[in-house]
Amino acid sequence: MKYFLAIIGGGPAGYTAAEKASKAGKDVVLFEQNALGGTCLNVGCIPTKSLLYGAKQYYNATHAQKYGVTAEGVAFDFGAMQKRKTIVVRKLVAGIKQRLNNEHCTVVNGAAKVCPVSPQGEECCYSVEANGECYEAENLMICTGSTNFVPPIPGIKDNPNVWDSTDALAATELPKSVIIVGGGVIGLEFATLYHELGVEVTVIEAMPTILPNLDQEVVTVLLEKYKKAGIKILTSTKVESLDGGKVTANGEVYEAERVLVSVGRRANLQGLEELKEIELERGAVKVDEFCKTNLPNVYACGDVTGKVMLAHVASRQAEVAVGRMLKEIPLQRIVYHAIPSVVYTNPEIASVGLTEKQTEEMSLPVEVRKLPMTFSGRFMAENEGETGLCKVIIDRRSQTVVGVHCIGNPCSEFIAAASFAVRNGYTLPEMKQVVFPHPTVSEILHEIL
Ligand code: NAD
Repeated sequence: MKYFLAIIGGGPAGYTAAEKASKAGKDVVLFEQNALGGTCLNVGCIPTKSLLYGAKQYYNATHAQKYGVTAEGVAFDFGAMQKRKTIVVRKLVAGIKQRLNNEHCTVVNGAAKVCPVSPQGEECCYSVEANGECYEAENLMICTGSTNFVPPIPGIKDNPNVWDSTDALAATELPKSVIIVGGGVIGLEFATLYHELGVEVTVIEAMPTILPNLDQEVVTVLLEKYKKAGIKILTSTKVESLDGGKVTANGEVYEAERVLVSVGRRANLQGLEELKEIELERGAVKVDEFCKTNLPNVYACGDVTGKVMLAHVASRQAEVAVGRMLKEIPLQRIVYHAIPSVVYTNPEIASVGLTEKQTEEMSLPVEVRKLPMTFSGRFMAENEGETGLCKVIIDRRSQTVVGVHCIGNPCSEFIAAASFAVRNGYTLPEMKQVVFPHPTVSEILHEIL
């Protein structure tokens, strides 16, 4: 049998593509060597958010006095938190399996390898091998994701004290102290989890600031809170070597029970060796605006494209790629500049669109409006002692909203409203006509205009 589409990788990119193409009546085969759901569901977004929620419950209970509540004897059971996390993950993975079953998509549980490509005349045909069997397809989609990057730091390899995010998520016991190498998204989310559960945390970041790609005024709010709370954050500090739990950085030695290394992820190109002609860019598969590679009928979506390593980007890329494959009219494209992102620290950071720095680099004349979150009544009611910040960046010439950056709970839940504005190029007068429900923290987006 010849399939319409063979997909390697069953993460958010792979399963979204499989579902969409199957729904359109096409024969699809999807290969996954681990559990369906990929990094996001199994060792990324969902398990971290499950654990972070448990930690937040404990932290809030022990810090409830400011709301007039005293809770005594509050304790947590990390093993129970882990068990709950596993149940959440299992249910979601089962849900994806069910959805693909419902669409009659063939799912092969095994490591897939693209077979040598032989010229087939006019028609494209790719062959993929898994579990000793060969599967042929007209279109091929690479959704192989990414893996944790291990930097070439002496003493890091085979060091039993070193964890990556997957090890940290699997651990059944909490360390007493942890050094986190890399103050990016993963580093700060784990710093939040560990700090809220009473672990001594040190973050070491090579750049002059943590979360270097985000709006730095927003990041400063987090930095000040975390430093005050006792999280040690070292910036402009480069790790030189490791020896067990001892980390040498900028000539100083720091020590902890565990060292969590979170210095980025790299595209996973395993199984693609036979696609010798495929074009790569900075170690990732190069794709166009429809996620097409340079090879005929070969697409790539998700982390493997090295574009923006976010699950929601992966699934959107998959929708666009399958739309292109099916020749849907009108053809859709991805608007990368309107992709929202969230960092699940406490408080959360959420943003969409251009930062002030980016507009400066582009010489785009902008007006920046900002307000502390305390302008929202609901925020005041529920966030004792917090200030928060919301910034809206407006293109001076067109009066359109080009960026929104927030810190303050629960901004992750309303950043999508800002994404609508940035995605559709809403002008200030248009935004002003939108009614926000009262009292919600989302009203800050209206207040600021
Ligand atoms: P990252 O790129 O966000 O951060 C890595 C950090 O490590 C950078 O700030 C970098 O300067 C620093 N660094 C690099 N080498 C260093 C060294 N030798 N010493 C000290 N610091 C060093 O990468 P990440 O945090 O590993 O996350 C990987 C990917 O996963 C990212 O693309 C991220 O967006 C994604 N992710 C997203 C979420 C979310 O959306 N909430 C959560 C987790 C991960």
